[in-house]
Order: sequence, then structure tokens, then C-alpha cells
Amino acid sequence: MGERTFLDILEPWDGLGILVRRDHPTGTWIFLAIHDDTLGPATGGCRMKVYERPEDGLRDALRLSEGMTYKWAAMDFPFGGGKTVLAIPRPLSQEERRGLLLRFGELLNSLGGRYGTGADLGTTSEDMQTIAEVSEYVIGVHGRSDGPMDPSPFTALGVFSGIRAALEHRFGSTDVSGRRVLVQGVGAVGGPLAHYLSEAGASVLVSDADPEAARRVATEIGGVVVEPVDVYATECDVYAPCAIGATVNARTIPELRCAIIAGAANNQLELLNDADRLAERGILYAPDYVINGGGAMAFTLIYQGLEPISKVEDRVVGIGSRLRSIFEEAQRSGGSPVEAARSHAERILKRGPFAAELSAFDDIRGRFAR
Ligand code: NAD
Repeated sequence: MGERTFLDILEPWDGLGILVRRDHPTGTWIFLAIHDDTLGPATGGCRMKVYERPEDGLRDALRLSEGMTYKWAAMDFPFGGGKTVLAIPRPLSQEERRGLLLRFGELLNSLGGRYGTGADLGTTSEDMQTIAEVSEYVIGVHGRSDGPMDPSPFTALGVFSGIRAALEHRFGSTDVSGRRVLVQGVGAVGGPLAHYLSEAGASVLVSDADPEAARRVATEIGGVVVEPVDVYATECDVYAPCAIGATVNARTIPELRCAIIAGAANNQLELLNDADRLAERGILYAPDYVINGGGAMAFTLIYQGLEPISKVEDRVVGIGSRLRSIFEEAQRSGGSPVEAARSHAERILKRGPFAAELSAFDDIRGRFAR
């Protein structure tokens, strides 16, 4: 990575700091970004991916850590924004992967609790288990709790609730029956989301870069497969991006034939002003870090023993109410939902940690010393 590129990427970022480490045995670049710790210790998943260029991994770490700051603030949970990207040069053997994760665990320890992690794209709960052999700064680990190991179904539930809230704001009813919803990416989140929608009577269209995955989910729910190239121009009530980021951009927005965008993917807008382009086209957008927070919310509540799982689901469904007030605030102020969500999160960040909530999080705060 050229020095200039590195500085250029870092220059616009307003986070606290980034730890960069080259893992020589595997040739992996480790980018651990801590964006903000106003509300509490930085907490965010660990992504493992082969990038075309390592600097793309750095960019991801920076953007995603910022997203975590706003995600925690939107929920008013006492954590800060952080994220790790393990930019591997190629798929690793099992032995290499284990070695990398153990060394990453030692790196976590060296931060003494300023940052804690969990599974993310490309990592599994088994990987977190490996890290936990050497570090306690990791959540979602077997043996620590009898809770679920995959946050994705909770994320899907939150997105489903968010879609209902968006339908209500746009069409006056939360009823999804008869609505056409296009789910792009039917993986860990998009798959269960497609099931929720279909069970509620929606007409579900599915698309995936992996044609077999799209076919399988379509068969399971009686849905229709849309080819990846046709996603943006397909007429639907809701487009739910659940695959990759930046699918909403200057090129795709003119093509879109949907009333609402509400999905799980992180960083759906390529640029912040894409929110204005959507508003100009009359498309209602559910800010990603609000609608996709269900998994992070559920895991925090479950692993801190704060709520039984049945109650956790109610809290996740509450994401719909949060979105409802964001849409209403945007309408009142004449701004976009992105601006309304950001103002809400910034108010929370300005206020700082909420003392009453803190006692409930004592365990994790004790472990993740600041
Ligand atoms: P996943 O890897 O399980 O599923 C992603 C799916 O998208 C896969 O089936 C993949 O084949 C497909 N895909 C990849 N590129 C595509 C493309 N260009 N076009 C169409 N399909 C494509 O991931 P996931 O856990 O379901 O997460 C989906 C998105 O939601 C990601 O952006 C992730 O960051 C975000 N997210 C996930 C969670 C969670 O709890 N898993 C939480 C918050 C945000």
C-alpha cells in the first residue's frame, strides 16, 4: 500500500484511531478501527475477506466503524463504534486461519478492553470461539452462554419490522400482504427475511449472485427469482438490499422502480447525498444502521443476561417504532430520514452515556475497561 494512498484514505475519517498490523505468517493486513468511544468501549464485528487491494479493506474498516458508532447511538446502548477487517490475501487453510485468529486475539488483549469484537461477514461463531481461547474481548461464544450463536435471524426480524413501519408511513398500513418486496441477497439475513415476508403474505422476489441460493429460497417460499442485472429496474413496493453496500448510487437511483428501500446491508448509500437523490424521486429510505441493528441489539441483551430471548424479540421489533419516529421527524423538518437519524444519534452522542442503562451493562463495562 503506497504511503500516499494510506494517508488519502485516512484523511477524511474523523475517528479516534486505527491499528494496522501485517500478519506475516498469512500475509493478512489487519485493520482495527476505533471510531468513537463517547458512549462506551468500541464494539463491532470482525470481517474476514479477500479484497482486490488491501486499501479496500482499510476503507471498509473505517466506514464500518463509523456505522457502528451511529448504530449503537441509534439504539442508545453504551458502546462506541469499532470494526476489524482481516484482509486475507486468499482463502486460508484451517491451520492458517486458526493461527491468524489467535494472533488477532492477542492483539485484542493489547488494547486492554478498548475494543471488543464478534462475528461478521466471513467469520463464524467458531472463529469467535478460537479467539476466545486467548482473549475475553469477544461475544457470541459457545460455553459462555446457552444463547443463539447467529445474530442474523434477529437482524432479519428487525428489518421485517422496519419494512412494516415504512409501508405504514408510505401507504398508511403495516400490512405486507399483496406487497411486492424484492430481497437482494438471500444469505444469513435475506433468507430468513424472505421467509418472514412470505409468511405475512407478501409477494416476494429474490435475487442473489449465487443463482442456486436464489432458486432454493424462491422454491422454499414460492417466490420469483430476479436476475442480478434486473434488480434495480424491477417494479416493486420495497427493495430490500441484503447483500453488499453501495448498491444505491447515482447510477442505480434513476433506474429504481420501488417506493421504499429498506434492507439489511451496511452502507447502502454510496454517497451521503444519494439520500437527497432518493428524496427527489420520492423513494422512502430506511437508514441502514437503524433498520439493521437487530442482531447487535439482541446479542448485547442476551449475552449480558439483560433480557430473556422472548423479550429480546420484542425489543428487536421495536426497531419499527424507532423508524416510524425517524420518518415522522424527517417529514416535519423537511429533511431526509438519513438526516433525521443522524440528528437523533448525534443528540445521544452529545448527551453521553445514559447512567441508568450503564448499571445494566456493568459486566461488559468492567470487562471492557475504558
Ligand atoms: P451473507 O454472506 O450470509 O449473505 C449475503 C448474500 O448476498 C449471499 O447469498 C451472497 O451470495 C449474496 N451476494 C453477494 N454479492 C451479491 C451481489 N452483488 N448481488 C446479489 N447478491 C449478492 O451475509 P449476511 O449476514 O446475510 O449479511 C448481508 C448484509 O447485511 C451484509 O451487507 C452485512 O454487512 C449486513 N448486515 C448483516 C448483519 C447480520 O446479522 N448478519 C447485521 C447487520 C448488517
